Amino acid sequence: MKKLSTLKSDAQKIVNKYIRLRDAKLTTGDTIFCKCISCGALKNSDEIEAGHFRAVSLSSKLRYLEENINAQCTYCNKYQHGNLAYYTIEIDKKWGEGTAEKLLNDHETKQWKRWELEELIKEFQKKIDLLTDEQWFQKHVLNHINIY
Ligand SMILES: [Zn+2]
Repeated sequence: MKKLSTLKSDAQKIVNKYIRLRDAKLTTGDTIFCKCISCGALKNSDEIEAGHFRAVSLSSKLRYLEENINAQCTYCNKYQHGNLAYYTIEIDKKWGEGTAEKLLNDHETKQWKRWELEELIKEFQKKIDLLTDEQWFQKHVLNHINIY
């Protein structure tokens, strides 16, 4: 049986993969290039990471939440520590006014259970497959996220 810590990182990997694919499709329509939420640069997908607005170390509850994770270039994510000044502005444009504030003020912690992580992994694996379904993409992504 997998250790809980392994399950947590497996879940993060699959969620992050979905985020990179979601935002590439959202910002450029394909999976080759993607726009960084913080600096707006168009980057090759291999220079794009899934950047947490509230860092994993700061919020166990928000670590898999879609709104909290957005495609970001390596420069902003790693070297600018998320480039948060711009991220704050852009996350509100993308997900709606008040999103940054809501995430910043959420101080709840969460103890992830094994079954929750297993469900999450399955859910996001399915979502990755569904990204190629245009009707699904329209209904579950485009209707909830503003193109930026
Ligand atoms: Zn950037």
